[in-house]
Amino acid sequence: MADKTDSSLHTLITKRYVLAVTLIALLSSFAAYIMKSALSDVDNTAYLVNISGSQRMLSQHIALDIHRLYQQRFVTKTKQTETETILTQHIEKMKSANHQLASGQLKNGQQLKLSPAIRDIYFGDTDLYDRVNYYLKMATQIIETTSEKPFLQIMNEIDNSSEDLLIDLDEAVNQYQREGDERLDIIQRLEIGLWLITLLTLGLEVIFIFRPMAKEVIKSRDAEQRLLNSLEDQVELRTYKLEEANKKLRELASKDPLTNLNNRLTLEVDIETLIKGFHAHQCPFGIALIDIDFFKKINDAYGHLAGDQVLKEFATILQSLGRGTDKVYRVGGEEFVVMLNRIPCEKTQEIISDLINKTSSHHFRFEGQQINATISVGLYHTELFPISNQRDLFFVVDKALYESKANGRNRLTLATKM
Ligand code: GH3
Ligand code: MG
Ligand code: MG
Repeated sequence: MADKTDSSLHTLITKRYVLAVTLIALLSSFAAYIMKSALSDVDNTAYLVNISGSQRMLSQHIALDIHRLYQQRFVTKTKQTETETILTQHIEKMKSANHQLASGQLKNGQQLKLSPAIRDIYFGDTDLYDRVNYYLKMATQIIETTSEKPFLQIMNEIDNSSEDLLIDLDEAVNQYQREGDERLDIIQRLEIGLWLITLLTLGLEVIFIFRPMAKEVIKSRDAEQRLLNSLEDQVELRTYKLEEANKKLRELASKDPLTNLNNRLTLEVDIETLIKGFHAHQCPFGIALIDIDFFKKINDAYGHLAGDQVLKEFATILQSLGRGTDKVYRVGGEEFVVMLNRIPCEKTQEIISDLINKTSSHHFRFEGQQINATISVGLYHTELFPISNQRDLFFVVDKALYESKANGRNRLTLATKM
């Protein structure tokens, strides 16, 4: 489940990230395209401003060239080839400039859309295009004119039109300049606009993409933590249940189900510990093996359930012997063991004798009937003689019990050495 959450979160984050990056990429491509075309527009305008400026200059150069030509041809009568060449070059340059300025068709192959104001200067009332061409036609014509009189006539005409032409060429330069400035202004506004759009896009991305993305990440981390917590809880609960079950199992293995006393298995473990304690520290202890007398007869006379009831009641009497260090076990059908720890032999005998009396005077009850029973006991105490192991201990108490039975029951017999 965690894997599934992980992979869907991964897909979600990837999708949003790709969307955010795509938006920014589109925006910057768009901005780059707009800026590139705007800048190229500005470049072209600057180019035109440049040409129109040089055109203005060329008109003056041409007028001067013609005066120089006049001097050389008719006054000093010197060689004019160089002046003619320069004049021709100036005429060609100005012709080309006039064509570019009036058509917007630039030499670099680009086509600039001319504004109505420019078109008006070149083709409207001012008629600059034709006037320039006429000016150049006159200038071309003068190169071929070898007679002084017509030369002077054309030169005068050129001088006269040169001034007006200069004013209008100036106006064209100014108009180009103004339009260039306007374009620059537009570009600056465009820049600010694009900057604002970029900021807005980033802001919107933060609100609609990155913030929800961060929320999803936190949500998924919380869900993971909750899952982890619940798994921990489950493990803890299972561990607890397992411990409980183990405890019950241990109880079942160590307890007698009818009387709820410790069983023989527990006795063997406990006696082993006692013997070890005695060998190490001389801790005194006594072991009493108890057998209910003629129990078979009780079963026969009152029934098996009554027998069970006697066993249970006798277990209660044993438990009420009352010392915290003593332990009581059911080791067989109607056989019990009392373990008396850290107690002198004499005191042990007293306790067991009391038990024998208490039992014989007790009225066991089953379904309104009164049942009497006695017990026989074989008792071992460390003060009597030392014992080296459990097997020997059982042997001597069993022998003592047997003696109690043989000597008339309802009595206690002390164990003797093997
Ligand atoms: P003795 O004085 O020699 O010990 O005679 P006894 O009759 O007590 O001994 P015996 O060994 O002949 O009989 C023991 C009887 O105890 C036989 C058996 O049916 C009965 N018994 C063993 N366990 C249980 C039990 O859990 N419940 C009941 N009701 N009877 C049991
Ligand atoms: Mg018996
Ligand atoms: Mg018996």
